[in-house]
Amino acid sequence: MTMHVRVRFAPSPTGTLHIGSARTALFNWLYARHTQGTLVLRIEDTDQKRSDPKFLDDILESLRWLGIQPDEGPIHQSRRLELYRAKAEGLLKSGRAQRQEGAVVMPIEPRVISFTDVIHGRIDTDATLLKDIVLIKSDGTPTYNFACVVDDADMRITHIIRGDDHIANTPKQIILYEALGAAPPLFAHIPLIVDEARARLSKRKGATSVLEFRDEGFLSEGIVNFLTLLGWSPKDNREIIPVEETIRLFDVKDVKKTAAQFNAEKLTWVNAQQIKRLTPERLLALLLPRLQAKGWVTAQTNQAWLLQLARVFQGRLHTLAEIETLADFCFTDDFSYQAQAVEKHLRKNGTVKELALLKERLASAPAFDAQTVETATRGLVAELGKPAGELIHPARVAITGREVSPGLFEVMALLGRDKTLLRLERAIRSLT
Ligand code: GLU
Repeated sequence: MTMHVRVRFAPSPTGTLHIGSARTALFNWLYARHTQGTLVLRIEDTDQKRSDPKFLDDILESLRWLGIQPDEGPIHQSRRLELYRAKAEGLLKSGRAQRQEGAVVMPIEPRVISFTDVIHGRIDTDATLLKDIVLIKSDGTPTYNFACVVDDADMRITHIIRGDDHIANTPKQIILYEALGAAPPLFAHIPLIVDEARARLSKRKGATSVLEFRDEGFLSEGIVNFLTLLGWSPKDNREIIPVEETIRLFDVKDVKKTAAQFNAEKLTWVNAQQIKRLTPERLLALLLPRLQAKGWVTAQTNQAWLLQLARVFQGRLHTLAEIETLADFCFTDDFSYQAQAVEKHLRKNGTVKELALLKERLASAPAFDAQTVETATRGLVAELGKPAGELIHPARVAITGREVSPGLFEVMALLGRDKTLLRLERAIRSLT
């Protein structure tokens, strides 16, 4: 019979969910799903001074948004104080622990403590270097190490997957398992995430919490895909992996032991790929709140048109937020023209005449879908005997104000005939 895997994610609600902790949660969840095991969510909130319900809300919302669903919990340590006290009582009775100035403390005997970390291999620690272990502080609350071990034993956790900043706690925790008469679980300490300069990821250099990334327009699929690749890979160099497939392939023993480097450019690229994979319906649903906040979209706005807009921009967006700057010309005539684009593409001899010809062709085109518009435009290009760009670039600037936009014909079709002609006319007039 194979062991039923039980893992846990055990955040302390003393801050928002950091992207590094999100990766710890993700690796626990992936491993639980891969093994058809159980993920327990445990809230380590015995430090009442530092814990805050608003951080708990942030953590729960972040996990929900990422799609990391625990199978059990949240279980709050602050509601289990009796259990920790009872366990400490037991250790006092058996003589393993002592009272010292109101606290309960366990002395450590000199010996070597060994464990084999799933990722780092064998780790030996000389226990004479460790201080006595405080179990219960003088205010009656348990220490992290004690509550953690009591709970991991009580919850029958089989694998502890956590950041390798906790390696130093592990020998003490192993001593506590022994004292409690419980077998220690397996430990898999995953490397921390470092920034591009190999320093700890810090707030000063940009977003670090999950919800900040969400608000900047990253998809949960993008964040999950990116975090998956921080220290793990599917072994075939693929970078874009649907989460179902990661679940199939993921094993915690394959996580690399060197620090994982956060690369903002890669995150942005992965996110763009994940945006491309969305159905236009889902993309539109994700864009809508941003379009509404801009005042561009109301309940009356035509849904089919909005879906067309989502399709037109889908291949261009690295983040959802980019729609706010890239799509202004679709919602208002009062957008600005990039000065350098005007200089480069509109202020040329002959441009006015050619735009006027294009306007004529488009006015008489039999329909105004992208394909018909393209045929009409290319017909004119052929007659003029010039490279297509010499007509397409000026037209793009006239219609969007920008040098770069989604495909010109899709954009024209999206705007419709009237708007397209009006913008060409406006450009022609401003140039003459
Ligand atoms: N509450 C601890 C933390 O957030 C949990 C560490 C552990 O997983 O044992 O770092």
